[in-house]
Amino acid sequence: MLEAARAAGKGEAMARLAEDYPRGPHDQPQSMCPAFGSLRVGLRMRRVATILSGSACCVYGLTFTSHFYGARRSVGYVPFNSETLVTGKLFEDIRDAVHQTANPDEHDAVVVINLCVPTASGVPLELLPKTIGGVRVIGIDVPGFGVPTHAEAKDVLAGAMLRTARLEAEAGPVARPREMQEGLRGVSLIGELFPADPPGIAALLAPLGLSLAPQLPAREWRDLYGALDSVVAAAVHPFYVATVREFRAAGRPVVGSAPVGVEGTAAWLEAIAGAAGVEAARLDDAKARALPAIRAALAANPIQARVTVSGYEGSELLVARLLIEAGAEVPYVGTACPRTDWSAADRDWLAARGAHVQYRASLEQDMAAMKEVRPDLALGTTPLVQKAKELGIPALYFTNMVSARPLFGPAGAASLAGIVAAQTRGRERFARMVSFFDGVGTPDGAGYGFRERPVDPPGFRERQRKLRAAKAKAEEAVGT
Ligand code: SF4
Repeated sequence: MLEAARAAGKGEAMARLAEDYPRGPHDQPQSMCPAFGSLRVGLRMRRVATILSGSACCVYGLTFTSHFYGARRSVGYVPFNSETLVTGKLFEDIRDAVHQTANPDEHDAVVVINLCVPTASGVPLELLPKTIGGVRVIGIDVPGFGVPTHAEAKDVLAGAMLRTARLEAEAGPVARPREMQEGLRGVSLIGELFPADPPGIAALLAPLGLSLAPQLPAREWRDLYGALDSVVAAAVHPFYVATVREFRAAGRPVVGSAPVGVEGTAAWLEAIAGAAGVEAARLDDAKARALPAIRAALAANPIQARVTVSGYEGSELLVARLLIEAGAEVPYVGTACPRTDWSAADRDWLAARGAHVQYRASLEQDMAAMKEVRPDLALGTTPLVQKAKELGIPALYFTNMVSARPLFGPAGAASLAGIVAAQTRGRERFARMVSFFDGVGTPDGAGYGFRERPVDPPGFRERQRKLRAAKAKAEEAVGT
């Protein structure tokens, strides 16, 4: 499909995706459809309509998932068949849909997302009008064969929107952000954070004389201008390559890592103060206010356990830092996201404490690490958690359990350390469950409707064994 997309005129778009979101070791998404990341960013914005162009089965899955996560918004869809795809009628249908949707009374922007098949077929969203009656039209290609994770797909849309907003701001006056306060120097956080985290970070920044600028991905179009107006952008989630590119083009310094744990918070406050030109006395004050509270929260929730961390959210390294500061042994951290400059400090910190950091970790690598180190608790993706439970290892789903609570400052230290400490106490219970369910659901006994244990057809296994042996022999013979 990648070749098809290039041949159909998408070479430049594919090259840009390959540069921003490098592959390896796996080159296909191992979690949900990556387009969900872009769809979610669009659906969370006020006065933004989002339209999908793709196969009906993909759109069904994406729509289902978006409503499962509480979209409360219609997802637009332009269907196609082989004829409308090959004749170019699909593009005309998309253009008609965009014209119908672009009502300036209701929308600031209309987003159109090309999924796998329209991207591979070269449906040229770049030929859509840039604005219709003042409503921006943002067309993006987010194919599974070009964007490795749904996390990075958030950046595809966030970056495209920020670029449009930056060009608008450079061209002349723009709308004032809703909650903008004159004279405040803001820090724009990059990443979808747990809702309690931004206020917590604002409290850490206040002694520096800094406030929070609107966050990226934004919740409203005019917030994009507010984000660009910040004095520093903080790449809390380190995979927003296109978004960072736009901040840099706007002349904003970008700081990596995040205020996590005692050492992480101290280093982050120093980096922010340095980038924003804050005087040393204010920095000392900010540290004196924040660090003792974090230290106390960690001391109140000590973790004495071996924990492996894997996920696709982009915050895995930060979570691992916090766990280690709380006393955990973390031998392995796997993230589906790629290596970037903005997680370099976290990577070095973890490596210095004996953790192996695996970027673009595949599910197979995460599983192998878990089997090898036999942790007291595995934090990971759904299939990893399932495997851990089969092995009697307590496990927590990263997205729903870890990403759904604060991570930064004193609140993060108390919350995460608390849940990990509680889960690791359940190991003995897991061992009992494994022995109770021993054999249930394993191949020979699986399935509905059997009264007795299913019997293999006579001779079936032996025939299959011989076939495999013959195939292996034939393959060996090639080239000899
Ligand atoms: S085929 Fe492509 S667009 Fe459809 S669900 Fe899979 S990755 Fe997503």
